[in-house]
Amino acid sequence: MSTSAAAARLEALQAQLPETTRLLAVSKGQPAASMRALVELGQRSFGESRLQEASEKQQELADLEPLDWHFIGRLQANKVRPVLRQFGTIHSVDSLPLAERVSRIAAEEGLQPRLFLQVKLRLDPNKAGFDPAALRQHWPVLQQLPSLQIIGLMTMAPLGLDREERLQLFAECSALAGELGLRELSMGMSGDWPEAAQAGSTWVRVGSALFGPKP
Ligand SMILES: *Cc1c(COP(=O)(O)O)cnc(C)c1O
Repeated sequence: MSTSAAAARLEALQAQLPETTRLLAVSKGQPAASMRALVELGQRSFGESRLQEASEKQQELADLEPLDWHFIGRLQANKVRPVLRQFGTIHSVDSLPLAERVSRIAAEEGLQPRLFLQVKLRLDPNKAGFDPAALRQHWPVLQQLPSLQIIGLMTMAPLGLDREERLQLFAECSALAGELGLRELSMGMSGDWPEAAQAGSTWVRVGSALFGPKP
């Protein structure tokens, strides 16, 4: 990755994001050197989807001031403990049993992870997430789980929606978060972050539009 091209992309993105929308740099598949270049430009929050890959890069970047690591991948039950040790925020808690497990292990580890509950607002066999009705039903239980900071909702738009349909989907997610009293929204990726930001996303998760094509 050319540092100047990355700097230009980062600056352009930051200039277009509303003040209330933060940028999560999705660095999966990118080398630590590319991340280091963004850190030098002031970026501190990074999203990773695979534990092993993230661990290697965390070691390579250990000389820097601690970075803000977010886990955005599918969270397997047997990876909860190492993910909690290495990430302060998880965007992909998609069931009550998984939330209960995260709560129990966080308590054992003396941690208070920040969680987004992933919701699925459209039928989409490729995506995980709480059904909104199930989330409303489980919410009283979820809220009481110890050692968790449930801060918001995360969603992904299925492929093939047009701009209006994406805006509608993100607005629904925002309304659901409001109903539950949650303030943070993790919505929007390279292809749809403008609509997500317009709908009130507080974290856009941007990979390719920031780092450029995969090396
Ligand atoms: C890869 C990924 C992103 C970033 O995707 P881009 O299209 O490269 O911006 C965002 N969120 C999740 C959950 C991802 O897996």
